[in-house]
Amino acid sequence: MQYLIGNHSLMKRINRTRVMNLLRINGTLSRAEMTEATGLDSKSLTNITGELLSEGWLESCGLSNPAIGRPRQLLRIRSNSGSFIGVALSPGRVVAVRCGLDGAIQAESSQDISPDAGIESLMEAVFRLIDSLIGISGAARQIGFAAPGVIMPEGSGFLLSVNIPGFRDIPVGDMLAERYGIPVSIEDSSRSMAIAESWFGRARGVENFLLVDIDIGIGLGIYSEGRIYRGTSNSSGEMGHTVIKRDGPLCYCGNRGCLETLASGRALLEKISGIRQSGRYSSEDLNRLKEAAAVGDTEVVNLLKQAGEHIGMAVANAVNLFNPRMLIFAGPLAWEDSPLVESARRDLSVHTLSSSLRQLAVQVSSLHDGAALGAAALALREVYEVEGVLAI
Ligand SMILES: [Zn+2]
Repeated sequence: MQYLIGNHSLMKRINRTRVMNLLRINGTLSRAEMTEATGLDSKSLTNITGELLSEGWLESCGLSNPAIGRPRQLLRIRSNSGSFIGVALSPGRVVAVRCGLDGAIQAESSQDISPDAGIESLMEAVFRLIDSLIGISGAARQIGFAAPGVIMPEGSGFLLSVNIPGFRDIPVGDMLAERYGIPVSIEDSSRSMAIAESWFGRARGVENFLLVDIDIGIGLGIYSEGRIYRGTSNSSGEMGHTVIKRDGPLCYCGNRGCLETLASGRALLEKISGIRQSGRYSSEDLNRLKEAAAVGDTEVVNLLKQAGEHIGMAVANAVNLFNPRMLIFAGPLAWEDSPLVESARRDLSVHTLSSSLRQLAVQVSSLHDGAALGAAALALREVYEVEGVLAI
């Protein structure tokens, strides 16, 4: 803290970021309200808002109408002062969203693409979607990109994405930065979905939470003390490869009995089709499972329940380890009354320590295309964070 006090420009950035975050969360505020919320003196606050107004980040939007006292000028974030694009790749689909600085979605676009299409076709689809969003309202400030996989240590691309064939050693970040000439952030899909929950969804204001992403594979987004936990080599959250059955089925990672071999979308589709294949399934195949469950297909419902039991047990272990405030089920197999979620909730409550369970809120994500939203938030964070921390 001594360092922060001594570093004037960093303190200024933090205070500017605090004002931007206050307005992002509250919509409109007067300077007096911001002075009270930040604890800054009114002269400093007026200087900061003056700067932000003259740089075009903020705009005034009328006067307050208080019961007592004089009306005060209200300020808000100028939505069209900057646009941020979030792109998410999932098995069989690319989604892109364009957000304003206030986080409101300005435009959205998506394209189905075969999981076998190959990396060139995938990247062409990514470029096409971004081009179309840029065509709608001009250049963007930043791009965020999310895909299921392990990120390169230097953060420019993906080392590996088992569920998207050919997506290996791909420097997506560099490719996008070169093409569009703007900064690019990349992130694993499960973490990106957790970021979306923190910015737009169930976990707003929640500092410690876990998000379980149940898709073709299974991932875990970990939020600890208000920030994503990535681990030493960027590979945290590989819950799909936690071993839950000794000498269980062989997993593509080389281990036996991983959660993914028993409860992932791929495992369910293999059980139903009787065909073992690596990475060829798409999220659309999972939608068909959802439709089958909705009309009461007994085989599918039972498979989803069994998968939920395994996931509930694995999640209970994670909750016992991290003691989060909230656990969010997300992904194509985690809708509100899914048999998978219902049995996972049951097993979770059986296997979690009561000290952790007591204050745990269990939720199902309400966000559509959370990974793309999270990728947009990843780009937005460049404006709202200082040194990787939200300054509020
Ligand atoms: Zn494994």
